[in-house]
Amino acid sequence: MTAEQHPRRQPQETAGSPAPQEPAPASGPAPGPRLGVFDKELLDRCISCGFCLPACPTYALTGREPSSPRGRITLMRALESGDLPPDDPTLAEESSFCLGCRACEPVCPAGVQYGALLEQWRDHQWQGRGRPWIARLLMALVSRPALLRLQGLVRRHARSGRRPGAGAGAEAGAPQAARRDAPETAPGRPAEPASLLLGCVERGLYPAVSRAVRALRPEVGVPSGQGCCGALHAHNGDSAAGAALARELGERLPGTIVTTAGGCAAHLAHHLGRDRVRELSEYLELVGHRPAGRVTVGGRPARVALQDSCHLRNGLGVTRQPRELIAAVAEYVELPNAGGCCGAAGTYSMLRPADGRAVLAPKLEAIEAADVDYVVAVNPGCLRQLRQGLRRGGSRVRALHLAELLALAAREATDAKGRGQGPQTPAG
Ligand code: SF4
Ligand code: SF4
Repeated sequence: MTAEQHPRRQPQETAGSPAPQEPAPASGPAPGPRLGVFDKELLDRCISCGFCLPACPTYALTGREPSSPRGRITLMRALESGDLPPDDPTLAEESSFCLGCRACEPVCPAGVQYGALLEQWRDHQWQGRGRPWIARLLMALVSRPALLRLQGLVRRHARSGRRPGAGAGAEAGAPQAARRDAPETAPGRPAEPASLLLGCVERGLYPAVSRAVRALRPEVGVPSGQGCCGALHAHNGDSAAGAALARELGERLPGTIVTTAGGCAAHLAHHLGRDRVRELSEYLELVGHRPAGRVTVGGRPARVALQDSCHLRNGLGVTRQPRELIAAVAEYVELPNAGGCCGAAGTYSMLRPADGRAVLAPKLEAIEAADVDYVVAVNPGCLRQLRQGLRRGGSRVRALHLAELLALAAREATDAKGRGQGPQTPAG
């Protein structure tokens, strides 16, 4: 579905214009008594300039002011001041329709921390039964002992490519044991130990990503007893639980926390400190990783595009590293909307599948127009969204995680070496 086909969109409206398309509720700092839902300083920062409107995917879909960052902040102010009752349907709809992609933050001249405001909004709006049942189910699932046992099984699977003679301490289960299991040292590596975070989605759906990281960087430990990082909770109306889970994980994982999920990286960095957390591409740069091999298709370098992770890009400002890593092993192709949300947005694609597909549609068109062989994701939710969309459309393009692409290149190099050839081998 294109933006023009989206049912909310009014034909005469032009998405991308900073001008509101319909009268907005009163803006400016809320006068009088406050409900206490929002941090006043954060809410008052918005100067209603509208610079954020062209960056907002939901505004691009609808062209309606309430579906824009500025419109939503106006709604937050109306809720805070009591001008709108808490059960107002527009409040419920717009707090849910927002992707939480934070594309409105880097373009904002006033430094509005929209992501923090959205968390506060959903904390209030999605209390108890106000929270979508799918979100409630997922939040309960990541806390269940049965799932933790499954995590252990998958973790052992992820470790199957573990370095010979790796210390058993990290597998023993106790965080203390993991701390003693300091990784091997090698030139260019930090002295600090590093722990791979097995994300809730990834450990279940994409264990190959963790295996690829282990193959690329055997010094990264995989401590047992990992729980959820709390991003799921923070983005679904329980930021207190989200913060507590992040702190708990920080206690359990020794050293630098390496994550293959941009959303987890941003959430953990917010609660544990920026230096404690590295998304995979950042970590590889930190340790001076030099990618081996080339990914080829039919004897030529593969054409590979990137789908940015919203929270990695807009929350942590990481954009260069994954592009450089792809360019080191393939022909990198920049998509015109690589930085725009793919519609996965955590639980969004499950809570609002039609809207998630509508956000994804222009991206799929851009991928096809770019004539690429692979599109790389740096977040498991994006990977799932891209794979589903490409499969639905019958595309020949494959979606891979960055770790999988780098491991594929390394395998091609190893295979070529085994045959006594150069690194360029046909991959079909
Ligand atoms: S959020 Fe920032 S960019 Fe958007 S209207 Fe407010 S001040 Fe302007
Ligand atoms: S978080 Fe994304 S969808 Fe929500 S208001 Fe900001 S840009 Fe729009």
